[in-house]
Parts: sequence; structure tokens; C-alpha cells
Amino acid sequence: MFTDVDYDVVIAGGGLAGLCLAKQLRDAHPELSVLVAERERSPIPLSAFKVGESSVEVGAHYFASVVGVRDYLEEHQLEKLGLRYFYGNGEGLHQESEFGVNRFLPAKSYQLNRGSFEEHLRVVAIEAGARLEQGVRVLDIEIGEQEAPHRVTYQLDDEGEQEPVTVTCRWVVDATGRHRLLQRKLDLTKRYPKPHNSVWFRLEGVLDTDSAVDAGQTAWHDRAQEPRWNSTNHFMFEGGWVWAIPLAPDHTSVGIVVSDDLHPVTKFNRLEKAIDFVVDRVPGFAPAIRELPVLDFRVLKNYSHSSHQVFSQDRWACVGDAAVFADPYYSVGSNLIGYANGFVTEMIGRDKQGSFDEPFVRYANRWFLSLAEGLTQNIQGSYAFHDNAVIMSLKTVWDYYVGWSFSDPQFYNNTYLDEPTSTTLSALGAHAVATQGTIMNLFKEWARSYRGAFEFDYIDYYDDLPTLARLFVQNLPSDEAPDFASVLTSIRDGLDRIEELAHVIFYLALEDALPEHLEAVRARGWLNVTALSLNPERWEEDGLFNPKSRPRPDEVKVLEAEMRALYRTPSTAGN
Ligand SMILES: Cc1cc2nc3c(=O)[nH]c(=O)nc-3n(C[C@H](O)[C@H](O)[C@H](O)COP(=O)(O)OP(=O)(O)OC[C@H]3O[C@@H](n4cnc5c(N)ncnc54)[C@H](O)[C@@H]3O)c2cc1C
Repeated sequence: MFTDVDYDVVIAGGGLAGLCLAKQLRDAHPELSVLVAERERSPIPLSAFKVGESSVEVGAHYFASVVGVRDYLEEHQLEKLGLRYFYGNGEGLHQESEFGVNRFLPAKSYQLNRGSFEEHLRVVAIEAGARLEQGVRVLDIEIGEQEAPHRVTYQLDDEGEQEPVTVTCRWVVDATGRHRLLQRKLDLTKRYPKPHNSVWFRLEGVLDTDSAVDAGQTAWHDRAQEPRWNSTNHFMFEGGWVWAIPLAPDHTSVGIVVSDDLHPVTKFNRLEKAIDFVVDRVPGFAPAIRELPVLDFRVLKNYSHSSHQVFSQDRWACVGDAAVFADPYYSVGSNLIGYANGFVTEMIGRDKQGSFDEPFVRYANRWFLSLAEGLTQNIQGSYAFHDNAVIMSLKTVWDYYVGWSFSDPQFYNNTYLDEPTSTTLSALGAHAVATQGTIMNLFKEWARSYRGAFEFDYIDYYDDLPTLARLFVQNLPSDEAPDFASVLTSIRDGLDRIEELAHVIFYLALEDALPEHLEAVRARGWLNVTALSLNPERWEEDGLFNPKSRPRPDEVKVLEAEMRALYRTPSTAGN
């Protein structure tokens, strides 16, 4: 469709991000010629291929509805039973605090066997009209100046010497994953201050969380209505977590993720050491974990990165891991693929219409990178207190409030693709975003001075939290075209509830860490939640008692009752 080029779009790398983008582009603009140049040839190994196996709601919606592979996911991948967290010291999972869901959520998400999924995406992209060159290595991308075409050079990745091929294109997208061809070439990589590392391996067979607990523990077994295996299981410890993720049909992915300052990766950089570490954390996984055949073992140091820029007015873009990688903790990798691919599809559409301009590129970079970097800081800021069940459960509830009622609807309704609409929403959410930083600092302070005023055995973050469940359902994507007025009403509702939750979290933190101040703070009434802290000397100065919003004490009271019901104080243990 563009003139004087071999292809309108060349995508370097046909993994999850590149293949989804090829399909999305061809669906949105069928006249575009799209080439995907991918190093790995089919058949792709099942399971022992890549990480990025757990999807959450935005990523699942992206795959199912935007890329359009819902039927395939339903039939060939496993439905995910939400995120599940265990907090304890290896004394037996039935004695640990557990945070998860009893049943599948109204919005589906999936556990992805990346081998079979990418094999299917290859077929889907080709059927949509993209050309896929398999078994080729992209050697170089030369960015054309001004309106000049880009030149992409690739070579058959075979043993023998093959002549490189150079093709020209109007748009080039780097989707080479951690290879990050363009980011390295243009020196755009940004690193986070604290390295985080991961090791993982895949097992042929089911490493079942339910089987890790003796069948005689009937109360523990009965409280989950579906197999816990279907969840993304997180076994938390100070400075990190172990994951167990089911892969269709009957394989299991196991990984260890740590903050480098608390656990040097040398503790588990060999398979035997990694298995010992997992068994130490979850003794019930033995002997199965030592008996199931191991399909692979990988070590990845310092996995997070960002970039100074991911979209350019010069018609290039980076998507997937070639753009950014946040942190695997909330399984948001696929969400970020959805957002970046959405921006690229929008930009190419605007270019086609002659309305692609620098302000939109600037906005897209700012919006996307602040999302990715904000997520990373939010997640990695809590590794030091990953073992604190109460604070981490409150943090997860907080993150769900913000995610489900403010961030996710912007994807479902495509508002992030329209700068004026997005700016309106950002202005509306500025207070919540400011509170996000304050609450994170509050959690950190609280973790340092935690006295153990609360405990819990099990929290179902859907059934036990009706306000959160209501916000979740209310913000799910609908089949109807989004009506901005109702999106706004729903987001306003969520933002009010977020502010009320901040009050409740503060009261709980005070009750534990500074009980002598609790009643006096309550007596001051409505608070400025951007000034919350556990430092009473700062409260007046920071303006804690100078609220900027309408007081809603009744709503806080109702929410506080809902939240308090999740916890008991140690003296009421066993009640
Ligand atoms: C420890 C860990 C856990 C994670 N867990 C999750 C999770 O639970 N959920 C989630 O959503 N995300 C997770 N992620 C992120 C996950 O990696 C990404 O979501 C996803 O895999 C990124 O897809 P991609 O297409 O960018 O990269 P990839 O899937 O790696 O694809 C890149 C492709 O480019 C090809 N390629 C590379 N170089 C070249 C070249 N020169 N020429 C041609 N082809 C090339 C490769 O063969 C590959 O197929 C995790 C990441 C890590 C590190």
C-alpha cells in the first residue's frame, strides 16, 4: 500500500508480540503487506520454550478478543484460576496464609503453553495474510532518514553460508524479545537500580499444589472448589517467590524469582540447587518434584529493563520484551504487549491516513513507559516484605482496586489510544496515582515496624471482597461500543472507592504500628490520603488533615467492615 518499498511493515522476531501484531495489523488494515522474520523454525518444542505462561485479564482479553483466538484458547489452553499466594516458612501449605479465589473469575484468563500457543499464532498470522519467514536471523535494521524506506537485512539461520537478504519497508517493528535489536543499536536501554533474577524449569507432569497437602486436611482441601493447580501459584518468601504454573495438557512450569540484594542467584543457578530451594519452601512438592522428568532449566539475571523510547516518528517501534520488561510477579507481560501493539496499529493507521504526527508519538512513549516503569517500581518495591502475609494481601487488594477500576478499563475501551480522552482520565486519576506512591511508602514503613496485630488463614479476593468484585464486573469489556460517559462514571466510582480503601488501610496500619494514635486520627475525620505515613510528626506539615475531596465516612465504615472481616487479631485465633 505504501509505495517504493518491498513491505509496508517488517516485524523482526515472530514470538508472542510479533505474531500477535502481525495478525492485529492485517485485521485492522488488510491492505498492508506484513513480513515477520523469525529465527525459530516450526515445530516449536512444547512447554520447554519460553516463559510468559500466565496471562491476566488485560492480556487474556487482548489475545481472545483483539487477536481473536478465543476459541483456540478455550479449547487448547488451560483456564486460569486467578493468582494464588501462600505465605509461610515451609511448615506445610495448610498452615500458611493463602490468598486466592475459589472459582474461575467472570473474566477469563489463561495459562499458556507457549510452544503450542506460538505454533497456533504462526498459522493465524499466515491465514490473516502476513508472510512468515522462519529460520532466519535478522542481522541489522537500518533506519531510513526522513521519508526514506528502512532496510532490514536477514540471513537463513542454517549451518551453511547463505547470502543475506535485504528488504525495504515503510515501518519496522522490533519484536526480537530480549535480543532487543533496535534498543541496543540505538543505545536506548534503561536499567532499574536493583537487579532481580529468575531461574525456571519445566516438568513433564503435574506438580500439584493440592497434592502437596495431606488428604486428611479436609478443611483446607474443601475450601477451594477448583483444583489449585489451575492457579498461578506463588509461594512467597522474604525477597522473592516461587511459581508453579500449569501448562496444557499436563506439564508444570516452576520458577524462582528473587531480588538480588536478598538472594544471590548462585543459591539456585543449577537445577539440583533450584529443586532443593523449592522443596525447602514447599516440602509437600517432594518427592514428585524430584521424580517428574525435567524438560529444561534456565537462569536469567537482571531481567527487568525499560527504554528511553519505544515508538518513533521515524516509523519504527519496539514491542514485547524488545521494548520493556517489568516484573513477572503480576503476569503483566502480555498486558504490555497488548498496549504496545495497540499503539503501533494506531500509528500505522494514522500514517496511512496522513495524520501520523510527533505529538502522538511523544504522548504514546510517555504513556506506555510510565505504565511499564510504574508497574516495575510498584512490584519490585515490595520484594523485601514478600513474607508479610497481611501487608502483602492488603497491597494486592489495593493493586487490584487500581488495576481493575482505573488502568484496565483504559485498555478495554481503547481510551489510551486517544490522547485527549486519555488526558481527561489522567487528570481524573491524578489523585489516585499520587496516593499510589504514598500507599506504597506506607506499606514499606509498616513492614519495617510490623507488630502482628492481624492474621488470616484464607482470603478469597473475589467472594470475600464484594466491593472489589463489583468494580471488577462493572469495568469488564462489553460487546457494545464503549460509551465514554458511562466509562467516566464507572472510573469515577472506582476512584472514590480507591480513596476510601486508602483510609481503611491507614487505619489498619495505625492499629498495628501506632495504636496510640488511631482514635485521634479517626476523630480528625476525612483525610488527605496523599499524605498518609506512619510518621506522626509529619502529619500536620504534610497536610494529612487538610482533605481535598468530599468526606464519605459512611462509605469508609462499610468498606472497613468488609476489610476487617478478612483478618483476625491473634487473640481471636481459632474463633
Ligand atoms: C522470569 C520471567 C517470567 C515471566 N512471566 C510472565 C508471565 O507469567 N506472564 C506474562 O505475560 N509475561 C511473562 N514474562 C514476560 C514474557 O517474556 C513476555 O510476556 C513475552 O514472552 C514476550 O514476548 P516477545 O514476543 O516480546 O518475546 P519472545 O516471545 O521471546 O519472542 C521474540 C522472538 O524473536 C526471535 N528473535 C530474536 N532475535 C531474532 C533475530 N535476530 N532474528 C529473528 N528472530 C529473532 C526469537 O526467536 C523469538 O521467537 C516473563 C518474563 C520473565 C523473564
